[in-house]
Amino acid sequence: MKKPTAASPAKTIAALAKQLRTYKDAYYNATPLVSDAAYDALEDQLRALAPDHEVLQSVGSPAAVTAWAKARHAIPMGSLNKAVDEGEFRAWAARCDELGAKAKLTGITNNLFVTEKLDGLSLAVTYDKGKLTDAITRGDGEIGERITSNARRMKGVPHQLKSPVSVTVRGEIILKLSDLKKAFPGAANPRNQASGTSKRFDGAGCEHLSVLFYDLEGEELSDESKKFKRLTALGLSVPNSKATNLAGAIALHQEYAKSRRAKLDYEIDGLVVRAHDVHVQHMLGELGNRPRAAVAFKFASQAKVTTLIDIIWDTGSSGRVSPIGVVEPVELAGATVRRASLHNASNIAELGIGIGDKVLVSRRNDVIPYIEEVVTKKGKLAKPPTTCGVCKSKLDKVGEYLACRNRECPALVEGRIQNWVDAIGVLDWGEKLITQLVEAKLVREPADLYKLEPEQIAKLERRGMVIAQKVLAQLRATLPLSLPKFLAALGIENFGLQSAKTLVAAGFDSIEKVQAAKEAELAGLPGVGRAKGKAIADGIQQRKAEIARLIAAGVVPVNKANAGPLAGRTFCFTGALARPRKELEQLVESCGGTLLSGVTKELNYLVMADPASGSSKSQKAKQYGTECLDEAAFLAIIERARRAKPTKAKRA
Ligand SMILES: [Zn+2]
Repeated sequence: MKKPTAASPAKTIAALAKQLRTYKDAYYNATPLVSDAAYDALEDQLRALAPDHEVLQSVGSPAAVTAWAKARHAIPMGSLNKAVDEGEFRAWAARCDELGAKAKLTGITNNLFVTEKLDGLSLAVTYDKGKLTDAITRGDGEIGERITSNARRMKGVPHQLKSPVSVTVRGEIILKLSDLKKAFPGAANPRNQASGTSKRFDGAGCEHLSVLFYDLEGEELSDESKKFKRLTALGLSVPNSKATNLAGAIALHQEYAKSRRAKLDYEIDGLVVRAHDVHVQHMLGELGNRPRAAVAFKFASQAKVTTLIDIIWDTGSSGRVSPIGVVEPVELAGATVRRASLHNASNIAELGIGIGDKVLVSRRNDVIPYIEEVVTKKGKLAKPPTTCGVCKSKLDKVGEYLACRNRECPALVEGRIQNWVDAIGVLDWGEKLITQLVEAKLVREPADLYKLEPEQIAKLERRGMVIAQKVLAQLRATLPLSLPKFLAALGIENFGLQSAKTLVAAGFDSIEKVQAAKEAELAGLPGVGRAKGKAIADGIQQRKAEIARLIAAGVVPVNKANAGPLAGRTFCFTGALARPRKELEQLVESCGGTLLSGVTKELNYLVMADPASGSSKSQKAKQYGTECLDEAAFLAIIERARRAKPTKAKRA
């Protein structure tokens, strides 16, 4: 058996860090050596091995920024007149036509240009002969902050335009909802998150922000459509837009309010409608820094004031106890809201909230409703509980949260089973089935899953024998579990699959060695450190009896490198395939194969919908001698592997 040594990850880490430093320096000298995507991928690799590495901390320019310089806009960034309903919008249009008539311009409102009004922060970006030189936030319109180094990190801000022109372009910094979910899972308001992140001195998180552009200066273009085409041709992204007339603009507004808005991956708070013709815009002029020929046609508010009736404290599956506000029902964005999140215990004090208060509840797109602020104070300050509502044991304070630490708490038991099932990847074991099993007292810990008889599951409501046999077969198919997966599935806080892999790679390659590991040894591992080392050591000690029961139930962790008929063979999936990606990956792992995330010399099989497609990945694969196959051929390999005599899994 090839024993992984502790030296190899350290060497890899040092090499990665060196590489990243070189690229970073080149980047800040405006001579990037690799694409942003490649840079990010390397950073991810390093993060997987050593999450706390100093190279990962030192984002932003090498000389750390301590305050943003103020900068004056060459041309002030104005603001827009607002229309909050159709009546006001029509009044704006009538005023345009009236002013137009005086200037002998006709048909202004027959020729309008409509764009989405992005709910973000305005930014002016200057390019000199095509090269990004400056990025200034809107500020008060006259003077903003020069956040150039941060803007360079944002998506949609090319460092080089497609033509060597000197222009200033205006756009909006936004945080897409998909990026909000991925990168800032705790945050609820993308605009606030974008605002805070874009001004961070260390630049951290700016890579998750996007900029869409809608205006440019420095070139004479006769109408708005031409501007948008030009922006696109320069390599900049623009929001959705349409040239239309007055009736068309109103219809579009209705369409957005009804459905289109909810389908977007970013938040908009209205549509911007302006005279299409730039000459007309100039003729109508400005009033108080607001162009007369443009208006922000807003949507009805997604926030309403209602009364807080009660606060319930819900123990989640991780043990975290979260406050939920019960409110006087209120219609919000097409739904009746009765409950709204209050985030955590600290937030209760921060809001100074109490029962009977008038509160502002908001609901943005698909994000769950939450209480934003107290509008009128009535009740006395709400007190967080001291005991768990489910099991009555005393609560701990963990940062801003309250937590139930009773491992027998029914709310946590479900969480631990769910964590196990997720970590080993059995797809048909849904949340409902787990709840049923816990409620029926059939399962109290992961080891109990392996003692279940099909009849026990079949008897549960809406289950039956077919389902019972299917889920149990799926559970068995995941055996033997690799040691890292087994450890991650135990659900020790802060000890996920990556950390478990680091541990095993460092030589703790059997469950006995892991259990014998000293706190100091763990703390010395790359990316672990003292606090995490202690948490892992404690977690493993606490689960000693549970681990013994798992092994007794037949769940014996194995050293992956030696287990399974596909041991030593590597697989990568690309593009859309008929089966879910997760399921395919699981097939590989269940046979002892290894998954790679990209095409490298080490890759044996690249699985894709059409191996004859000649895509860049398949070409690269051919260079390396990697075999390209379709899904059917892949499944045949799995089938053969499964039928082959099982290799003796070495007990880890
Ligand atoms: Zn509890």
